[in-house]
Amino acid sequence: MSGTDADTEFAFSAHERDRLSNTSPADVRPAGSLSFSRNVFVPLTTACRYTCTYCTYFDPPGEATLMTREAVRDVLETGAAAGCTEALFTFGDTPDDRYTEIHAQLDEWGYDSIHDYLYSMCELALDVGLLPHSNPGDLTYDQMASLAEVNASMGVMLETTADVDAHSGPRKKTPAQRLGTIRAAGEVGIPFTTGILVGIGEDWTDRADSLLSIRELHEEYDHIQEVIVQPVSENERWGGPTPDLDTLRRVVAMARSALPEEISVQVPPNLAPVREVLDCGVDDLGGVSPVTADHINPEYAWPALRELEAIAEYGGVPLEERLPTHAHYIEAGWLSPRIQRAVDADDDAGERYRAVLSGRP
Ligand code: SF4
Repeated sequence: MSGTDADTEFAFSAHERDRLSNTSPADVRPAGSLSFSRNVFVPLTTACRYTCTYCTYFDPPGEATLMTREAVRDVLETGAAAGCTEALFTFGDTPDDRYTEIHAQLDEWGYDSIHDYLYSMCELALDVGLLPHSNPGDLTYDQMASLAEVNASMGVMLETTADVDAHSGPRKKTPAQRLGTIRAAGEVGIPFTTGILVGIGEDWTDRADSLLSIRELHEEYDHIQEVIVQPVSENERWGGPTPDLDTLRRVVAMARSALPEEISVQVPPNLAPVREVLDCGVDDLGGVSPVTADHINPEYAWPALRELEAIAEYGGVPLEERLPTHAHYIEAGWLSPRIQRAVDADDDAGERYRAVLSGRP
């Protein structure tokens, strides 16, 4: 078959995959600028149905937390006051039946599911003056369509199309589900961020397959705004090796080579030596927060904005702030009516969004 280990069939050829697998940093050019988003991180719950072996985010049943509305509001208000534009909502993947306390709490608060609660918290973010970007794991078309009403953009990491042991165990995350979620976002028509995780057992062919699969979904729906290239990190749950610099440089170059120019290639500066890969085509540094830690990888604090400026200076390119939705999607009218109203609003938040769109001083 051409394509991936997943159920979805892709049309790219073996020749194309081989060409991409052999791409090197010498085959791509550095970007002319670096973008970033000013965000606050809202880890709505640490419950997750999966147990990926490299992940320190999830807590088991009985230990997982669920942020209260008041706690969420506190973070959002602090972020808005600090000049942020994005509320980055995340949890792992829909908590399963083992998380009885989480479900009981949601029920007590009057929500049918974590997705209903997320919808309500996105509305709260809009009220406070931030644009929601949610990463709630795998979603059905209907779940995606509902959440798209109150999100400026959404995302899920593809990670890899390969069937790797790091995803194995009693509750296995599958590439087919991830690809289905990315396709659902395309069908709904919401700007979407995805990415690959490097070093979890995939090989060079798998990396090429993953990138080409993302490209094909974008060719069908035009909806991928950003692809993150993230190396797996050393932590207390991950016993495997982490990718060396040469590997990371090659994979970033592969991403730049595989994807059309309108898709940003992002490398997270808190998880990768971004200065050393700038010449491989990176053009986005992701979100930086003045007020919250990166709860997905709590032991790696986000660098301050000054650090992003230093990275851009090192690369000799300008650093440009962006909204969670990349500007060309806004210009092309992709925002939902609710989000468009927030961007157009004659209030402080609307002014902040429009200032960023026009190149905030
Ligand atoms: S990586 Fe994501 S899906 Fe896997 S266990 Fe962690 S939070 Fe859950």
